[in-house]
Amino acid sequence: MKKILIVLIITICLLIISGCLKKDKQITYEDSFIKEVSKLKYYNKKYNKRYISYYHSHTDYSYEDIVIQVNIGLDKPFYTNTTVSKFLNKNYILVNKYTYLPSNYVPNDLILLDRSYSRDNMYLVKEAAISLKKMYTDAIKDGYKIRIMSSYRSYDYQKDLYDKYVKIDGKEEADAYSARPGFSEHQTGLCVDIDDGVINYQLFEKSRSYLWMKKNSYKYGFIERYPKNKENITGYSYESWHYRYVGKEIAKYIHQNNITLDEYVAMFLQK
Ligand SMILES: [Zn+2]
Repeated sequence: MKKILIVLIITICLLIISGCLKKDKQITYEDSFIKEVSKLKYYNKKYNKRYISYYHSHTDYSYEDIVIQVNIGLDKPFYTNTTVSKFLNKNYILVNKYTYLPSNYVPNDLILLDRSYSRDNMYLVKEAAISLKKMYTDAIKDGYKIRIMSSYRSYDYQKDLYDKYVKIDGKEEADAYSARPGFSEHQTGLCVDIDDGVINYQLFEKSRSYLWMKKNSYKYGFIERYPKNKENITGYSYESWHYRYVGKEIAKYIHQNNITLDEYVAMFLQK
């Protein structure tokens, strides 16, 4: 009986010691992970726990991707953990599935677009509209046509649109291609949907004008906002027709580094 008791005590001690060692090992592993990611310039201490837990489920990602994606909020499902957009009336205002605009937000300086290259009653923020006109004129000079099919949309307009899509396709499918009200970039007055006046805008990528836009739009401050192979970052299906004005400097960086506006903000504008 005494022997059994001793064996039992020794076993319990061994179990406790091995448990402690395991814990020590884990702390060391997580500590060294944090030590490495803290060297990145976009590292944010307040997300330490989220970086660790995102890394556990994405061990194949680079440390840089872990930090940027957690900064964006991608460790949480879309439309959760949402906050109101911080950069109202700035060219780099971010609207995505974690960052929304107040329902009463109407951008300053909206102006009516010239009927020669847009549909009726299309409005855009003045700085973006001036640059858009220059882009249109230069495209025409090069022999390419672009036409504006949609620009600023109010909160209420987007609400009607989204509700209509949900009725047709259901919420899950509608979420992949249409923004919920407040979460639409069109409410910023800084983006446009474009076609070439011939093909349906959803097939814009098949047009010659698309190739011109892909090569040149950043020179006028416009980026392709929902690119191919970035769906997991933007939360949207690829949209070859949707362009967002961010100003020339940011557009150039985004274009040259093949990133999205979400990543740019998570890297340089978040702290
Ligand atoms: Zn659009």
